[in-house]
Amino acid sequence: MNEVERLNILRQYGILDTPHEEPFERIAALARLIFDAPIVLISLLDDDRQWFKSNIGLDLRETEREHSICNETIRSDDVLVIADTRQDIRTARNPFVIGKPYVAFYAGAPLVTSEKARLGSLCIMDREPRHFDERQMAILQSLAALVMREMELRRQIDQDWLTGATSRMAFHGTLEKLVGRMAPPSIGLISFDIDHFKQINDRFGHMAGDRVLIDIVEVCRGVLRDGDVISRMGGEEFAVLLPGATTKSALAVAERLRQAIESSRRTDVDGPVTASFGVTMLDQGDHGLADPLRRADEALYRSKANGRNRVTYSWAMPAEIGLGAGSVREGS
Ligand code: GH3
Ligand code: MG
Ligand code: MG
Repeated sequence: MNEVERLNILRQYGILDTPHEEPFERIAALARLIFDAPIVLISLLDDDRQWFKSNIGLDLRETEREHSICNETIRSDDVLVIADTRQDIRTARNPFVIGKPYVAFYAGAPLVTSEKARLGSLCIMDREPRHFDERQMAILQSLAALVMREMELRRQIDQDWLTGATSRMAFHGTLEKLVGRMAPPSIGLISFDIDHFKQINDRFGHMAGDRVLIDIVEVCRGVLRDGDVISRMGGEEFAVLLPGATTKSALAVAERLRQAIESSRRTDVDGPVTASFGVTMLDQGDHGLADPLRRADEALYRSKANGRNRVTYSWAMPAEIGLGAGSVREGS
C-alpha cells in the first residue's frame, strides 16, 4: 500500500484533531499500569506530523513526523522494541532522545486496519533502557488491536458504512454544533431522494444500486465545499447542511448537485440516475433538526409530484427574503 492510500484511509476515520475520548484514554491508562511506563502514546501518522489521540506523560498533541519513532513502527506489522534508543542508529540523534523528555526506551505496536493500512501505533516509552519480553510484546499488540477496534466503532457511529457519508446520528450532532456558532437563517438544508431507485435495483441488481449510492456521494462531494456536510439519512435519502448559506446560494448548490448527479455516467447502470430535491433555511424557531427536515422533505415531495429531477424551495420562507417564517406558516 502506498502512502497516499494509507493517508486516505486515515482521513476516513475522521479522528485527527479530535479531543481526548474515554475509550482511548482507558486503553492508554491500562498500558501505563501494565508496563509501568511514564509515557504512553496513541500516535497517528499524518502527512508531515504525528498526532496523538492519547498522550499520557507527554504534554504535546503532535510532533513533526521526521522526529517520530512510530514512523519506524509502521514499516511492519510487528511490535518494534528499541531497548536503548541512545544506542540505536534509528533513534540516537532523535531530539526526544537527546533532549526532553529523554526517551531511552521505546516499544510500539502498529495500528493496522482491515485493509492492512498501518495508521500509527500504540507505544510506551521510558527514560531508562529496558528489556521487553515476548509476553509483553503480545500484550502491547493486543492493546493496539483494542485501539483499532475502538477506532472502527467510532467510524461506524459517525459514518454510513456503505457510502462514507456522515451518519444520521452524527448529522444531528453537527447541526447542534453549527447552530451554536452560526445564527439561523445562515444555514441551508437540502434533502434529496434518488428517483425510481427501486427500478434501478430491480433492473440492474442490488449491487449496482449500492454502487450508485456510493457514486452519488462522491459526485456530491465534488460539488460541495469543505465545511458542508452530506449525510445518508436512510436507504436512498440524503441531506446536506450548508453553513453560511443564503436562500439563493442554497438553491444554487441544490441545482448544481441535481445537474452533477444527472450528468454523471455509470458503467453498470443504463441511462441517467436522477434525484429530487427540497431546500430550506434553518429558522430561529426551529427546534433541532426535525422542523427544518420536515420542511425540506415537504419541498422534496413537491419535486417528486411535479415530475422528479428538480429542486423545490420549502414553503416556510426565511425572514431574509422579506417573508416572516411565522406569517407564512399561519397562512398555509
Ligand atoms: P421515488 O422516485 O418515488 O423515490 O421512487 P423510489 O423507487 O426511489 O422509491 P421507493 O421508496 O419506492 O424505493 C426505494 C428503494 O431503495 C427500495 C429499496 O430497496 C432501495 N434501497 C434502500 N436502501 C438501499 C441500499 O442500501 N442499497 C440498495 N441497492 N438499495 C436500497
Ligand atoms: Mg425514498
Ligand atoms: Mg427514491
